[in-house]
Amino acid sequence: MAWTRREFTRLGALSTAAIAVPGAVPDIFAQQQERVGFAVIGLGVIADHFMRGVKQSQRCKITALVSGHRDKAERIAAEYGVPKDSIYSYEDFDRIRDNKTVQAVYVALPNSMHAEYTIRASKAGKHVFCEKPMALSSAECQQMIDACKTANVKLMIAYRMQYEPLTLKCIEMVRSGKIGDVVAFEGQFGFNIQPGVWRTKKALAGGGSVYDVGIYALQAARMFTGEEPVEIKAVAGTVHKDDPRFAEMEESVEWSMRFPSGVVASCASTYGGQMEGFMRVHGKSGALEMGPTFGYDGVTMRGRAKGEHWEESNPEKDPKQFEREADHFAECVQTGRTPKTPGEEGLRDLTYIEKIYESAGIKL
Ligand code: NAD
Repeated sequence: MAWTRREFTRLGALSTAAIAVPGAVPDIFAQQQERVGFAVIGLGVIADHFMRGVKQSQRCKITALVSGHRDKAERIAAEYGVPKDSIYSYEDFDRIRDNKTVQAVYVALPNSMHAEYTIRASKAGKHVFCEKPMALSSAECQQMIDACKTANVKLMIAYRMQYEPLTLKCIEMVRSGKIGDVVAFEGQFGFNIQPGVWRTKKALAGGGSVYDVGIYALQAARMFTGEEPVEIKAVAGTVHKDDPRFAEMEESVEWSMRFPSGVVASCASTYGGQMEGFMRVHGKSGALEMGPTFGYDGVTMRGRAKGEHWEESNPEKDPKQFEREADHFAECVQTGRTPKTPGEEGLRDLTYIEKIYESAGIKL
């Protein structure tokens, strides 16, 4: 499909007025508040993005680190002004309850450790901001929700795209009827995974690429339709059968979903090839697509309907998305509000992920 470039004109106001985008205007409220102190648990790739996002934030600061590598933790602590006595190992993590500079934790560990550290953090009286996928199973998600409720702490799942302004603008366009009645959705995300990493170990990852990146397409289908799937059918396949990366899990999954309105969705994810983040919504009178999308920056959309053409990219750079989600969570901690993406949102996705694997005939 050939799209014609044209600036948003009539829709410009829509995006700013109709959608509350954290970070869009100087945050006077935040400037008057004490910053929310985060302990970062697990100092890997995503934790680095998050910490750089927090550095830019007006609402948050890094006040503690939890790591199995003392040297690395001390280096990062020096960079972020974290005192040495606020560095914890996994074993002595529970002492964090006595650290008054820590109001919240950021769980940036392999998937299998999310439930344990969320529950331990809640028992220490700390609010929990947990990476996606929320856990290995819907049962674990429920335990995390229950633990946070019992401890009266907030629980938010790190669904970056639910805070990304261009994505929110596109959702608003679709939901306000710009492309007419939505009839179908397509979404995909995948990459060619390195050998030997925890993501290829079922015990640590839970399952294959759906847990890690397919979840973006699943989320997008739900966000753009505003509906929950009532039927899911999936197939899985592996091309590189002797590749040790796929000894414990499938290479690719493709699944279809039906929503109550009758909208159908077709989604895919892989760990075996380059599958750029992409989604398209088909409406009665047009279509809107985002691609590349789901990444840390460079999110781009195109669309056309009823003689109108749209094209736009979000020029913001990484780690702005992380600053946004951290700020949202901090605001919830400060005001007592419920996060936009609470534990219940993570639970819903895990319920669907379980259905996807069950339908594909894969035991988790
Ligand atoms: P990573 O491998 O870069 O980091 C994982 C960290 O956990 C490392 O510091 C590692 O030392 C520590 N760790 C502790 N115990 C471990 C163990 N038994 N095995 C392996 N590592 C162990 O991983 P990552 O890419 O930062 O992913 C961490 C979490 O963040 C995952 O749940 C992932 O799904 C999520 N994630 C989210 C996004 C996003 O955009 N929201 C992007 C990437 C990853």
